[in-house]
Amino acid sequence: MASQVLRRSLSTASTQSTLKIGLIPADGIGREVIPAARQVLEALKSGPQFEFVDLDAGFEYFQKTGTSLPQKTIDTLKSECHGALFGAVSSPSHKVAGYSSPIVALRKHLDLYANVRPVKSVESPAFPSQKLLDMLIIRENTECLYIKSEREEVDPKTGLRVAWADRKITEFASRRIGDMAFRMALTRQKLRSEIPVANRFWKHNPKVTIVHKSNVLSVTDGLWRETVRGTQLPGVDMEEQLVDSMVYRMFREPEAFDVVVAPNLYGDILSDGAAALVGSLGVVPSANVGDNFVMGEPVHGSAPDIAGKGIANPIASIRSAGMLLEHMGYTSQALKIYEAVDQVLADATVLTPDLGGKSSTQDVTDAVLKNL
Ligand code: ATP
Repeated sequence: MASQVLRRSLSTASTQSTLKIGLIPADGIGREVIPAARQVLEALKSGPQFEFVDLDAGFEYFQKTGTSLPQKTIDTLKSECHGALFGAVSSPSHKVAGYSSPIVALRKHLDLYANVRPVKSVESPAFPSQKLLDMLIIRENTECLYIKSEREEVDPKTGLRVAWADRKITEFASRRIGDMAFRMALTRQKLRSEIPVANRFWKHNPKVTIVHKSNVLSVTDGLWRETVRGTQLPGVDMEEQLVDSMVYRMFREPEAFDVVVAPNLYGDILSDGAAALVGSLGVVPSANVGDNFVMGEPVHGSAPDIAGKGIANPIASIRSAGMLLEHMGYTSQALKIYEAVDQVLADATVLTPDLGGKSSTQDVTDAVLKNL
């Protein structure tokens, strides 16, 4: 059912002539890379017109105002926007009273239940020993250990502290994410066969790999495994992988994976790890997808070590803008963005320092704009 609703809302979006997009740069390099993504959207020569609305959120906003996500941002996104781009949020290393992550809250408010993270290599002289991979990690976004039900007590026998965390897995959430994974495996196959620029390195039948640890967590991961298995679609192969061996295989033979679907925590860890396979966190995009809303978001954080220097890699954000369009039904415009970015990586003459280059955020953005 979820896929029908999603298809309906996407087709509605793709008939709009003006899309209103909320821009939430938030913290650190978010303020440098989101404007880059905006420039690329504005430069598209076909497709929808864009109207952008700047919105507040983040740790720095919290330090100024005492809230990390103002109600105005939520209301504007819900009532006025077709989609959004989120930059990055700083995560304080210690507990800060009253602070909670705005991105986690936004995912909840907008019911963005899937975090979709493509990890794709590009053949380039800059990365000669890189494996050629093109996988899509789909992370369940709403439950698992991230429900934040934790508590601490003192063990009366030892007098020492004991900490507990609850983990929630539901048939409902597992089914809708499994449904999305199998549907996306088919969509990727369709793109591969119909559009040459979408030519990906995956040469086999579409496949979904279900990640779990049900040999240990037989109740929670057992329910996850059984439910996601039940969403298999005809024409899509299915395999299972225990999360520990998934990590091993992903680094040994990343080319063996097409679509990977994982509960929240495993998906978070796997997708950050997978970024190491394609050179830098600075090139890995994501989209938070629900039935009625899409929010593009680079996988990286606020990178305080390079913030303000003008050298942040904008590619993850530019690709996230492409994903925003793709998931709203504007496939050809999205592919134009992906192709322009891939060309910059393949040329390898204009790269930011994280990829071994000397160029600035704006230089890379200009190179993408030139290829559009
Ligand atoms: P946060 O607290 O916001 O999570 P972090 O530094 O712990 O910040 P990231 O922001 O993801 O985590 O950064 C990890 C490393 O990757 C840092 O060294 C950072 O400079 C680098 N990095 C992340 N994103 C980019 C980018 N877009 N361009 C260049 N380097 C990046």
